[in-house]
Amino acid sequence: MTAIYPLDAACAGHPLPLWDATVYGETVEYREWRHHQAKAICRGCPVKVQCFKAIDHAWDEGIWAGELLPLKRNARPRPASERVA
Ligand code: SF4
Repeated sequence: MTAIYPLDAACAGHPLPLWDATVYGETVEYREWRHHQAKAICRGCPVKVQCFKAIDHAWDEGIWAGELLPLKRNARPRPASERVA
């Protein structure tokens, strides 16, 4: 990772929460529009490679390096009673 990251990140300082996984009260259509916009910006980001490498250390769900990243770290295993045999 370069010393300039994240200053060169295309999302740095962006006024809209396009990269957030969800925004309270939004419709599914608006969320899809936000994520589409975020992914388009990610495609031209000069630090996309560094961002992709940082996914393993991601602390939040949302769009990372142009992909929607669910927060798996907090996912709990399902109880045995809910598992499909
Ligand atoms: S690639 Fe990463 S750093 Fe660049 S705009 Fe997308 S989320 Fe931000």
